[in-house]
Amino acid sequence: MRIQTIDKMDEVHQAPHKNNTGECRCIQCGKNAACRFRALEVRTLHVRDMDREKRVQALGDYRDFAVCTECAEQKLREIVSYRGNILRKCLPFGLIFAIGCVLTAVFISKDRVMMTLGIAAIVCGILGIWSFVTKGTEKAREYKVKSKEKALHDASWELITECAPAKEGDNDLTYIPIDPETLSRKNGDLMVLYDLLPDIAVQAHKKLHEI
Ligand SMILES: [Zn+2]
Repeated sequence: MRIQTIDKMDEVHQAPHKNNTGECRCIQCGKNAACRFRALEVRTLHVRDMDREKRVQALGDYRDFAVCTECAEQKLREIVSYRGNILRKCLPFGLIFAIGCVLTAVFISKDRVMMTLGIAAIVCGILGIWSFVTKGTEKAREYKVKSKEKALHDASWELITECAPAKEGDNDLTYIPIDPETLSRKNGDLMVLYDLLPDIAVQAHKKLHEI
């Protein structure tokens, strides 16, 4: 399925980073991809100032990404039937929980510090699994009421945010998707949704409407 909104945008605004052949490769598997996205890069640097950490942010370039139909559908299936991934995704928390149980059982009434560590690990494991299950349930519910086209579009964007470069040097890289939904948002919405500083949200809003 082609994602109409993105294709229409590409017709209006030629992608600044599109290669000479005009081909788009899937960000996950490298196959030719029909579903194209343009995004505005945001660079965030965390700096320490007088014992406080503060963020310095700047807008980067426009970036072009693509996702093939197979990868988009696979990602959508993962989101909607997230329970199938519980074992794999929760394995680290399951291990923490198991280690906590062992520590607590071995050191109970023998070593208060180790026993406390064990209890902390049990709580951490339970919270991790609980967080995955509740977030997964909520997201699956949201996706189930979307149209197929919208669900594939949003699943593709989620895949891009997972696969796109997240760091360049000391900078964290994040991306604002450029699509009709984003263009309809106000400064404050952009600030909250994409964790932008107030000035950067204003600049982003202006830049998004300039292209
Ligand atoms: Zn792919």
